[in-house]
Amino acid sequence: MAEEIERIKCLIIGSGPAGYTAAIYAARANMEPVLYQGMQPGGQLTTTNEVENFPGYPEGISGPEMMVELEAQAKRFDADIRNGWVTKVDFSGDVHKVWVDETKEIHTDTVIIATGASAKYLGLESEQHYLKIGGGVSACAVCDGFFYRGQETVIVGAGDSACEEAHYLSKLCKKVTMLVRRDEFRASKIMEERVKSTENIEILFNTDTVEVLGDEHGVTGARVKNNKTGEERDIPCTGFFVAIGHKPNTDVFKPYIDMDETGYIKNVPGSSKTNVAGVFVSGDAADKNYRQAITAAGTGCMAALDAERYLAAKGH
Ligand code: NDP
Repeated sequence: MAEEIERIKCLIIGSGPAGYTAAIYAARANMEPVLYQGMQPGGQLTTTNEVENFPGYPEGISGPEMMVELEAQAKRFDADIRNGWVTKVDFSGDVHKVWVDETKEIHTDTVIIATGASAKYLGLESEQHYLKIGGGVSACAVCDGFFYRGQETVIVGAGDSACEEAHYLSKLCKKVTMLVRRDEFRASKIMEERVKSTENIEILFNTDTVEVLGDEHGVTGARVKNNKTGEERDIPCTGFFVAIGHKPNTDVFKPYIDMDETGYIKNVPGSSKTNVAGVFVSGDAADKNYRQAITAAGTGCMAALDAERYLAAKGH
């Protein structure tokens, strides 16, 4: 039997830096926010080792630790942090309806979407192994490139992200090998030219990854195969970067919220407003460009302030 419907003022969906920052601001503004953490409490940062570029942590902090701290900060102001996964929404009325884990129904005046995006990976067992143990697989050069300075890295992908990240790595690493699965790039010409003209980037076309190689300490190389000739070879590297795209976690909002063709939510420029009054967006769910913890936190703050103003205008 369905539980009783819960009526609240502010629901935050997602528990990355955007969601927790929104919770801190909303709780301090007496909006009594309820935050659902989703499948991966703490979000993408929980798969990062060390965060060294978030202002305020001069010695750096591990991704999981930072998320525990953000959660504690939100709880300090009595934000109601819960486990749960939003399975359905109905944004057709003035009061927004949200279902959690199929059963629980919540009616809320405002919704802050902070569901983030997920990096795509190749799906190889060896890749997932070293990703899990934090041993040299990463989907974010800006986050993790620094740990491989002076070393050799491999990056998979041929879009703008892969080119941008390869170029970023080339400034830190001795050598970057780029694995492109077709015989051409997908990236814009200018990005393609930039990697092609960088001396320490080697581009291997028609090349697939067979396996990520390593030992108990981490990655030591990548076994690759030319998909035209069938020839296999091992490339030594300590960092294996995957830049084959991200998928925003926005499917559940599709019938109601305007998105671009890849699922990123469209916000009203300069604000966190979506096309639905009372529904706001923050973090990577609306950002395919910057994708940083600090920008996500910034837009989480914006969403809470926008939600607060919306509630005030409604007389709450
Ligand atoms: P894209 O979808 O544009 O590119 C993904 C790349 O990964 C493609 O080259 C694709 O190959 C490759 N790929 C996908 N799956 C695999 C696989 N299993 N094995 C090997 N290679 C694979 O994603 P991006 O993240 O690069 O870009 C997303 C959007 O963001 C784009 O619109 C881009 O223009 C934009 N962007 C803009 C930037 C800028 O302007 N500064 C920076 C970053 C992103 P294939 O080509 O064969 O399909």
